[in-house]
Amino acid sequence: MTLIVHKYGGTSMGSVERIKNVAKRVAKWHKAGHQLVIVPSAMSGETNRLLGLAKEISSHLDSRELDAIAATGEQVSVGLLALALREQGIEAVSYAGWQVPIKTDSAFTKARISEIDDTRVVADLAAGRVVVITGFQGVDPHGNVTTLGRGGSDTSAVAVAAALKAEECLIYTDVDGVYSTDPRIVDDARRLSQVTFEEILEMASLGSKVLQIRSVEFAGKYQVKTRVLSSLTDPMIPLDEEMRSGTLITFEEDERMEKAVISGIAFQRDESKITVRGVPDRPGIAYQILGPIADANIDVDMIIQNQSIDGKTTDFTFTVPRAEYERALTLLEANVREHISSASVLGDPKVSKVSVVGVGMRSHVGIASKAFLTLSEEGINIQMISTSEIRISVLIDEKYMELAVRALHKAFELEKA
Ligand code: ASP
Ligand code: MG
Repeated sequence: MTLIVHKYGGTSMGSVERIKNVAKRVAKWHKAGHQLVIVPSAMSGETNRLLGLAKEISSHLDSRELDAIAATGEQVSVGLLALALREQGIEAVSYAGWQVPIKTDSAFTKARISEIDDTRVVADLAAGRVVVITGFQGVDPHGNVTTLGRGGSDTSAVAVAAALKAEECLIYTDVDGVYSTDPRIVDDARRLSQVTFEEILEMASLGSKVLQIRSVEFAGKYQVKTRVLSSLTDPMIPLDEEMRSGTLITFEEDERMEKAVISGIAFQRDESKITVRGVPDRPGIAYQILGPIADANIDVDMIIQNQSIDGKTTDFTFTVPRAEYERALTLLEANVREHISSASVLGDPKVSKVSVVGVGMRSHVGIASKAFLTLSEEGINIQMISTSEIRISVLIDEKYMELAVRALHKAFELEKA
């Protein structure tokens, strides 16, 4: 008998009909002899509706009260699902986060789980019950209800699976897995049957549409075997077929069945680039330029500083999310005027980042040159390059982003299984 955690997202819980389907699926697993803990989200749209009500009442939202309001969406879900399970002839019990308890810090609206007390849940499981626990919420050391940030039910499920040492955590959602790239850009993008957690973290632009990135970090830290799969299939499909569907997040490179060197092409469309020209080449200059940007809480991604040829001045370029472009530019212009008056600032708000991601890069050479050749054959100019052990990213003109994604997807034969 193995213990499995299921998580069902808002779409999967979206109507009474869908909740009944979830119950049928869970009943199937239960009858196959598994112990089950189910972590549902609020019904789709519900969290937005609740937060909307709060905004109608007040423009100075108190985050403790916001959490008290937002957490009710999941509270309804667990009750309804427990009822639906009883209708299936299964003994089920629902718990809110504070009842388990799922302990968190006091950072309302973005709390972090510190500890999960499994006593109550373990006793229920031993008595043959299916346990239904709210996603998204917990309780702080002072007894206040907290929430884990939008999309936080994924993290709740993985954390519960880690605490209970579950065999596997199944994240049921409205897509059937993680893809080699966005299928809206590349028609023959392929579902990955396996991907390492490190790859998902590097492919956040692809992975984060499927699950909260913090849950992936959690899965990596506690080695929770996590699978993302569709809840929109027939709930009665055979278990072994279900276990082969979706995308499994793995930890070991050599566990991979498919030996693809590259797993996916990720992209970030809305980037922007800022360059400071004629920067004196002296200690402290990077701090001088980026310090105020960091102080303003603006996320800097790629950074390039050229070596000065004449030993006197150099150029310094970095990227920030496009939404922060104007703010970063204004800050920097003021800073340069005051402290580095010999330098000048210029920017480009229409650039995009495209990344080739794969753990196979660790053991294969020539991936970067193949990517560069592919882009050059399309006549795409690379403005900046950055790399990690398992990722090569290029910054290019936004105009060519989709072309670059398609060309790289093809060059690395990602459409092939
Ligand atoms: N209901 C919460 C949200 O909409 C948490 C979740 O769905 O994971 O963000
Ligand atoms: Mg979600």
